[in-house]
Amino acid sequence: MKIAKDSVVTMNYTLKNDAGEVMDTSEGRAPLVYLHGVGALIPGLESELEGKAATDKVSAVIAPEDAYGARSEDLLRVVSKDGFQGEEELLAGMRVQLDTEHGPMVAVVSAITGDEVTLDMNHPLADMTLHFDVEVVDVRPATADELAHGHVHGEGGHHH
Ligand code: ZN
Repeated sequence: MKIAKDSVVTMNYTLKNDAGEVMDTSEGRAPLVYLHGVGALIPGLESELEGKAATDKVSAVIAPEDAYGARSEDLLRVVSKDGFQGEEELLAGMRVQLDTEHGPMVAVVSAITGDEVTLDMNHPLADMTLHFDVEVVDVRPATADELAHGHVHGEGGHHH
Protein backbone atom coordinates (compact mmCIF):
# COMPACT_ATOMS: atom_id res chain seq x y z
CA MET A 1 0.00 0.00 0.00
CA LYS A 2 0.95 3.62 -0.46
CA ILE A 3 1.69 6.05 2.33
CA ALA A 4 -1.35 8.19 3.10
CA LYS A 5 -2.96 9.75 6.13
CA ASP A 6 -3.25 7.20 8.96
CA SER A 7 -0.64 4.83 7.51
CA VAL A 8 1.89 3.33 9.89
CA VAL A 9 5.26 3.65 8.18
CA THR A 10 8.48 1.81 8.99
CA MET A 11 11.55 3.44 7.50
CA ASN A 12 15.31 3.70 7.62
CA TYR A 13 16.72 7.19 7.31
CA THR A 14 19.86 9.25 7.36
CA LEU A 15 19.78 12.99 7.92
CA LYS A 16 22.65 15.20 6.78
CA ASN A 17 23.27 18.92 6.91
CA ASP A 18 24.40 21.11 3.99
CA ALA A 19 28.01 20.11 4.64
CA GLY A 20 27.13 16.42 4.26
CA GLU A 21 27.68 15.64 7.94
CA VAL A 22 25.38 13.00 9.41
CA MET A 23 23.13 14.63 12.02
CA ASP A 24 20.94 11.62 12.73
CA THR A 25 20.46 8.13 11.34
CA SER A 26 18.57 4.93 12.02
CA GLU A 27 21.58 2.93 10.85
CA GLY A 28 22.69 0.50 13.54
CA ARG A 29 19.37 0.98 15.33
CA ALA A 30 15.80 -0.17 14.82
CA PRO A 31 14.04 1.56 11.91
CA LEU A 32 11.75 4.48 12.72
CA VAL A 33 8.06 3.63 12.94
CA TYR A 34 5.58 6.50 12.82
CA LEU A 35 1.95 7.36 12.20
CA HIS A 36 1.67 9.38 8.97
CA GLY A 37 -0.39 12.55 8.76
CA VAL A 38 -0.50 13.60 12.41
CA GLY A 39 2.63 15.73 12.46
CA ALA A 40 4.95 13.06 13.89
CA LEU A 41 7.58 14.03 11.31
CA ILE A 42 8.47 17.49 10.03
CA PRO A 43 5.95 18.62 7.37
CA GLY A 44 8.48 18.65 4.51
CA LEU A 45 9.41 15.01 5.05
CA GLU A 46 5.81 13.84 5.44
CA SER A 47 4.85 15.43 2.12
CA GLU A 48 7.87 13.82 0.36
CA LEU A 49 6.82 10.41 1.71
CA GLU A 50 3.14 10.74 0.78
CA GLY A 51 2.27 8.15 -1.91
CA LYS A 52 5.47 6.12 -1.49
CA ALA A 53 5.45 2.36 -0.86
CA ALA A 54 7.67 -0.29 0.74
CA THR A 55 11.17 -0.54 -0.84
CA ASP A 56 10.89 3.00 -2.27
CA LYS A 57 13.91 5.18 -1.70
CA VAL A 58 13.45 8.91 -1.23
CA SER A 59 16.09 11.62 -1.25
CA ALA A 60 14.68 14.93 -0.07
CA VAL A 61 16.14 18.37 0.54
CA ILE A 62 13.95 20.22 3.00
CA ALA A 63 14.11 23.96 3.66
CA PRO A 64 14.02 25.21 7.26
CA GLU A 65 10.45 26.50 6.90
CA ASP A 66 9.29 22.93 6.18
CA ALA A 67 11.54 21.52 8.90
CA TYR A 68 12.35 23.07 12.29
CA GLY A 69 11.83 26.69 11.32
CA ALA A 70 14.00 29.73 11.80
CA ARG A 71 16.06 30.42 14.88
CA SER A 72 14.38 32.94 17.13
CA GLU A 73 16.07 35.43 19.43
CA ASP A 74 12.95 35.11 21.58
CA LEU A 75 14.11 31.64 22.53
CA LEU A 76 17.26 32.95 24.18
CA ARG A 77 16.98 33.42 27.93
CA VAL A 78 19.44 35.01 30.30
CA VAL A 79 19.23 33.52 33.78
CA SER A 80 21.31 33.64 36.92
CA LYS A 81 23.91 30.96 37.49
CA ASP A 82 22.46 30.53 40.98
CA GLY A 83 19.48 28.72 39.48
CA PHE A 84 21.67 25.74 38.64
CA GLN A 85 22.15 23.47 41.61
CA GLY A 86 23.94 20.64 39.82
CA GLU A 87 27.38 19.64 41.00
CA GLU A 88 28.56 19.66 37.37
CA GLU A 89 30.29 22.84 36.23
CA LEU A 90 28.31 24.74 33.58
CA LEU A 91 30.09 25.01 30.24
CA ALA A 92 29.07 26.61 26.95
CA GLY A 93 27.61 23.99 24.63
CA MET A 94 26.25 21.91 27.48
CA ARG A 95 22.65 20.70 27.31
CA VAL A 96 20.52 21.35 30.35
CA GLN A 97 16.96 20.38 31.17
CA LEU A 98 14.65 23.13 32.39
CA ASP A 99 11.31 22.94 34.13
CA THR A 100 9.06 25.46 32.42
CA GLU A 101 5.37 26.23 32.59
CA HIS A 102 5.06 24.08 29.42
CA GLY A 103 6.85 21.14 31.03
CA PRO A 104 10.47 20.01 30.78
CA MET A 105 12.52 21.55 27.95
CA VAL A 106 16.05 21.00 26.79
CA ALA A 107 18.20 24.08 26.27
CA VAL A 108 21.80 24.58 25.27
CA VAL A 109 24.06 26.83 27.32
CA SER A 110 25.15 29.29 24.65
CA ALA A 111 27.20 31.68 26.80
CA ILE A 112 28.31 32.24 30.37
CA THR A 113 29.21 35.79 31.38
CA GLY A 114 30.07 36.25 35.02
CA ASP A 115 26.98 35.22 36.93
CA GLU A 116 24.74 35.23 33.86
CA VAL A 117 23.97 32.20 31.76
CA THR A 118 22.44 32.52 28.29
CA LEU A 119 20.24 29.57 27.42
CA ASP A 120 19.24 28.78 23.85
CA MET A 121 15.92 26.95 23.56
CA ASN A 122 15.90 26.87 19.76
CA HIS A 123 15.68 23.43 18.21
CA PRO A 124 19.23 22.27 17.38
CA LEU A 125 18.14 21.83 13.74
CA ALA A 126 16.46 25.26 13.46
CA ASP A 127 17.62 27.34 10.47
CA MET A 128 19.03 24.24 8.79
CA THR A 129 18.31 22.80 5.37
CA LEU A 130 17.94 19.08 5.91
CA HIS A 131 19.04 16.35 3.50
CA PHE A 132 17.18 13.11 4.07
CA ASP A 133 17.83 9.71 2.54
CA VAL A 134 14.91 7.46 3.37
CA GLU A 135 14.14 3.84 2.55
CA VAL A 136 10.55 2.83 3.16
CA VAL A 137 10.54 -0.62 4.80
CA ASP A 138 6.87 -1.20 5.48
CA VAL A 139 3.49 0.52 5.19
CA ARG A 140 0.34 -0.70 6.93
CA PRO A 141 -2.97 0.83 8.00
CA ALA A 142 -3.09 2.11 11.59
CA THR A 143 -5.32 0.23 14.03
CA ALA A 144 -8.33 1.94 15.63
CA ASP A 145 -6.38 2.11 18.92
CA GLU A 146 -3.42 3.77 17.25
CA LEU A 147 -5.67 6.34 15.59
CA ALA A 148 -7.41 7.06 18.91
CA HIS A 149 -4.04 7.59 20.61
CA GLY A 150 -2.38 9.40 17.70
CA HIS A 151 0.73 7.19 17.76
CA VAL A 152 2.01 3.75 16.87
CA HIS A 153 1.66 0.77 19.21
CA GLY A 154 3.69 -2.42 19.32
CA GLU A 155 7.17 -2.96 17.98
CA GLY A 156 8.98 0.31 17.50
CA GLY A 157 6.12 2.27 19.00
CA HIS A 158 4.96 3.36 22.42
CA HIS A 159 3.11 1.03 24.77
CA HIS A 160 0.52 2.21 27.21
ZN1 ZN B 1 -1.09 4.65 22.87
